[in-house]
Amino acid sequence: MELVGTGTNQVTSRTVTSWTGVAAEHPFGLHTLPYGVFTDAVGSQPRVGVAVGDAILDLTTATRDLLPEHAALFRNGSLDALLAAGRQTWTMVRETLTRWLTDDRHAEALAPLLLPATDVTMQLPFTIADYVDFYSCEQHAANIGRIFRPGQRAVPPNWRHLPVGYHGRAGTVVVSGTPVIRPSCQRRLPEGTVTFGPSTALDFEAEIGFVIGTPSVLGRPVPLTDFAHHVFGLCLLNDWSARDIQSWESVPLGPLLGKSFATSISPWVVPLDALSTARIRPPVRDPYPLPYLDDTITEPWGLDITLEVRLNGQLISRPPFAGMYWTAPQQLAHLTSNGACLRTGDLFASGTVSGAAPDERGCLLELSWNGSAPLTLADGSTRTFLADGDEVSITATASGPEGTSVGLGEVCGRISPALVDRAPRG
Ligand code: MN
Repeated sequence: MELVGTGTNQVTSRTVTSWTGVAAEHPFGLHTLPYGVFTDAVGSQPRVGVAVGDAILDLTTATRDLLPEHAALFRNGSLDALLAAGRQTWTMVRETLTRWLTDDRHAEALAPLLLPATDVTMQLPFTIADYVDFYSCEQHAANIGRIFRPGQRAVPPNWRHLPVGYHGRAGTVVVSGTPVIRPSCQRRLPEGTVTFGPSTALDFEAEIGFVIGTPSVLGRPVPLTDFAHHVFGLCLLNDWSARDIQSWESVPLGPLLGKSFATSISPWVVPLDALSTARIRPPVRDPYPLPYLDDTITEPWGLDITLEVRLNGQLISRPPFAGMYWTAPQQLAHLTSNGACLRTGDLFASGTVSGAAPDERGCLLELSWNGSAPLTLADGSTRTFLADGDEVSITATASGPEGTSVGLGEVCGRISPALVDRAPRG
């Protein structure tokens, strides 16, 4: 696997020690420094924090005293102002945080602002503007093709020419830990009856989300080379999917109610700068993409990230992100190629991440082959799709400096029983 230096990051080129005592090997070591929003008491105002190992540094308070000229970026209990501030400010803040955490002279002022992560409640980190989900993993797309279109070509004819995707529902993006209520909707039973009721094929999709900071101008496509100018960072994302609703409603258009009931994201947004050591060359594309998607002339944005999916605490899959066919810069270039503009807080996701091996598949639809081959968990229980009370946890790490790993944290959600079991009155 070829690692690629980026030249965009001054602070993660080597591991450094900190007065906080955080270990260099910690996934949230000084090479990561992800941003999130937390509350530490019921009814308290949300504050912005940065994760340092198992602690959270209260940036809303710290910047008020130590970086007053930029305190407004952290005052409003969300990352929105920081996201809108742009790359120059992102770099300056990251360098400042690194200096604060490595220079003993800041210990006295900052140590009281380091809170144990177990003492706080994480909140949705930013205002979600538009949400788009792609479908850029060839293994996943091919498995879906084999399941639903046996005997035909595994991926559709457009798939290798453009990153296929759909617009999702921004208003139902929720932070990790939010209960996921089993959706009810119209669906068709296997024998053909059309009915209304709770989904019986509720699934997860393990994905990586990309968060837009700097907006773009209406009518002006964003080229591949401007990716890092607009994208602030990454999060983990679970694109919950009701397969029975989705399969009935999605012909001939895309997913609507089968996915719009909930999308969970991790509370920590990992800056793009922290991923500089994880960049690798993406797979060779065949056919060669059109010039606006040709990333062979730019520094590659494949990312060596390994996800882990746990169902009720038991590891069921380790999807590898490294093999994704379309990269995030290509997705962004495609998303704006018609002149659609970006807004601060836009979120776009990779699509389900699956590898070639059966234990690398990123959703139950693949893991249980649409229910025909139930998955057996370590405790002996079996699943085709999710049961009420099931908890799905997705974690991930990327290659960090000097053999360390960059953590992306966790996105988890537990399934609550359906609230509606009959069709609403007309
Ligand atoms: Mn998805």
